[in-house]
Amino acid sequence: MVLIKCMIHSQKGAAADQKTAAKAALVHTCPVCRVSSIDTKIFKQYFESEHPKSPMVPVLVDAQA
Ligand SMILES: [Zn+2]
Repeated sequence: MVLIKCMIHSQKGAAADQKTAAKAALVHTCPVCRVSSIDTKIFKQYFESEHPKSPMVPVLVDAQA
């Protein structure tokens, strides 16, 4: 019983880790002020308005606004 419980628990933990990893991959963090955004388009708009003189983050260069 204890072993089964542990297996279920660890599976849940792995699923949560994958969710966290997927979430983290979608978050963009501003290299200038460390503000983070989940949405690439919003982040690009933010970056263009807040840091127009800073070089564009590579991930945003490819993003279509
Ligand atoms: Zn910023």
